[in-house]
Amino acid sequence: MTVLADARELAGDITDLRHRLHREPEIGLDLPRTQEKVLEALSGLPYEISLGTDTTSVTAVLRGTGAGASASRPVVLLRGDMDALPVQERTGLDFSSRIDGAMHACGHDLHTAMLVGAATLLAHHRDQLAGDVVLMFQPGEEGYDGAGVMIHEGILDAAGRRADAAYGLHVMSAGAPNGQFLSRAGTLMSASDGLTVTVHGAGGHGSAPHQAQDPVTVIAEMVTALQTMVTRQFDMFDPVVLSVGVLQAGTKRNIIPDSARLEATVRSYTPESRAKLARVVPRLLQGIAAAHGVEVTVDYVTEYPPTVTDAGETSRAERVVGELFGGERFTRMVNPLGGSEDFSRVLQQVPGTFVFLSAVPRQADAQAAAFNHSPRATFDDDVLADGTALYTQLALSRMAELCG
Ligand SMILES: [Zn+2]
Repeated sequence: MTVLADARELAGDITDLRHRLHREPEIGLDLPRTQEKVLEALSGLPYEISLGTDTTSVTAVLRGTGAGASASRPVVLLRGDMDALPVQERTGLDFSSRIDGAMHACGHDLHTAMLVGAATLLAHHRDQLAGDVVLMFQPGEEGYDGAGVMIHEGILDAAGRRADAAYGLHVMSAGAPNGQFLSRAGTLMSASDGLTVTVHGAGGHGSAPHQAQDPVTVIAEMVTALQTMVTRQFDMFDPVVLSVGVLQAGTKRNIIPDSARLEATVRSYTPESRAKLARVVPRLLQGIAAAHGVEVTVDYVTEYPPTVTDAGETSRAERVVGELFGGERFTRMVNPLGGSEDFSRVLQQVPGTFVFLSAVPRQADAQAAAFNHSPRATFDDDVLADGTALYTQLALSRMAELCG
């Protein structure tokens, strides 16, 4: 398989780029140094490059020169996210982060480097592409909706026409044997929404609650009622998770505070449950507040939709992994993952798939190793060539079919 052999030949360059990105992580939507490195790595390749206006994204379009090129040239989009996390690195690696409080703890440095590798390989195979490839170098995946920002910037139509297929990869530092690819048709990851609640009571002396309006007992009831709601109002076969991560009130034990607040993350897997949550959560909280005669402010924010892959494109990924590496390297996941992804926004508009790639260190126990987002999360460089080959071959395979 020439793509894999070519990717392995590039491994040194891809690894070097990954290490340079890793040493200098940037967080959020503004990643100027990362953007600089990507541009430098793409320079000399025959891409039409455009830079984000609302974020430091890089969009690179390769115009295929393959036979069959016509007015209806197909477009394939490949995405790599580029942002790091506010984590203090504790891996002890010699290319550890030099930026205090920032670390590529989710492996997006690998995604960026692999997509740059694919850029090189696809340029070599340009004469096999009877259509265009759009490379989406995306900032701000970690809670900044960078994919949404890039869609607003026009990424889906970057080649002049709407993308026909879209693919993303994500490395994992634990959970599966090194080099294993995993995905599933349909719902792959959860929707992620946010809840902020403030109960407005009336402060007073702790010895005389009847002269105050205690927000603490009310918010405590809300915390437990939300869990009861999950089990009583939602189908056990369409799971919902609501976790209160912030609970704040008061200053001193004998003072009833004026107000109390909580924040929760809300995860769901179907549009139906997601819409129902947005409806019944405020109703429940307002009902509890009304029952106790206090006011409540409920701020329910919809964030990332569920990540839903196209069944045909997921079969393609399985087939391509089989061709490149052997069928045993692909696992069809039984269950979706609990995390969320803003690539879901792309997959809402363009059929495609998203594939996990285990980069667990070879000597580590895949189940016990530190998972993504841990200050000790370590990703193996050996998977870089494989991820590069998969990106490349997915584009070639899809293009061949669209043109055939
Ligand atoms: Zn990530």
